[in-house]
Amino acid sequence: MNTKIIKIDEENIDEELIKQAGQIIKDGGLVAFPTETVYGLGGDALSSDSSKKIYAAKGRPSDNPLIVHIADIKDMDAIVLKVTENAKKLADRFWPGPLTMILKKSDRVPFETTGGLDSVAIRMPVHKTAAAFIKAAGGYIAAPSANISGKPSPTSAKYVIQDMDGRIDMIIDGGDSGIGLESTIVDLTGEIPVLLRPGYITLEQLKEVLGQVDVDKTILDGDCKERPKAPGMKYRHYAPKGDLTIVDGKAKEVIERINELAREAEGKDKKVCVIATDENADRYDAGIIKSIGSRNDEDIIAHRLYTILRECDDENIDIIYSESFDSAGIGQAIMNRLLKAAGHHVIHI
Ligand code: AMP
Ligand code: MG
Repeated sequence: MNTKIIKIDEENIDEELIKQAGQIIKDGGLVAFPTETVYGLGGDALSSDSSKKIYAAKGRPSDNPLIVHIADIKDMDAIVLKVTENAKKLADRFWPGPLTMILKKSDRVPFETTGGLDSVAIRMPVHKTAAAFIKAAGGYIAAPSANISGKPSPTSAKYVIQDMDGRIDMIIDGGDSGIGLESTIVDLTGEIPVLLRPGYITLEQLKEVLGQVDVDKTILDGDCKERPKAPGMKYRHYAPKGDLTIVDGKAKEVIERINELAREAEGKDKKVCVIATDENADRYDAGIIKSIGSRNDEDIIAHRLYTILRECDDENIDIIYSESFDSAGIGQAIMNRLLKAAGHHVIHI
């Protein structure tokens, strides 16, 4: 398949190109598009055939549900059984934005889109190109991240092209994704809301609006035997090709241990990368040092994480050591993705 690649500037949207992209979706095709979190791989959410095509293009297991993206809060009504009070409150506060809500689905949404579940995940992105594209496509775009299943989510068109060129009809290049991590997911189908995936909207922010919010135990606990409630969270996700280990402890000891491990691996002819914070970067003396940002600015760390993991693949890195991050606020999302990328391999000192 020939993939058409177009550029759209969020601040000066080319309506003609957006119309073309929307028409591809209406005709049953697939278009990758930028959002504020990561790039999405979009198809018509109300068509079972389009959802099947998304799974095929990604190589994704079909029990892993897709998120339905909308551009108008009112469009939620048609795809859920009931817009609950909590959903209204969250939409009011965080939409458009990087928050996904799970609600009971209506018959309009095919089971192919929800991975066989009777609930549906819904998000309204704030990215202007995404919103214009969703409208042009008829209002409902099912989209997972636009990567081949198992790879880190793409945060720039370069990586979408790497994974999806030849597999889908169109890629909209909208530059770098601002946030760089997937949306926060909150399940509103039960009595008490449950955080299923941490993201840019933090647990604390959800609690401010909802009061009590439970947290799915599997988010930060690799030994947890329970099944994650968000089906996608059970898969080895966000993973680089090289072996990633997180080293956690006091800065001085972490640096010493990583230096030791990196030298040892280099002695065995392995190509090594160290993911370091700005504060510590010049204290490492082995491997390729990649500075991920300052501990004082977790937004930057979130923004850079997947790019660094992708760069490790581009540079054929065999072994990666990373510092560990705080597990509060956005740090919870960063640690959750890093732990998954590491297959929960952590050295605690
Ligand atoms: P992605 O678009 O790649 O970020 O993946 C979307 C993720 O949302 C899936 O992997 C699931 O973990 C989660 N999700 C989507 N729909 C549901 C649902 N109905 N119930 C629980 N989790 C869901
Ligand atoms: Mg994904």
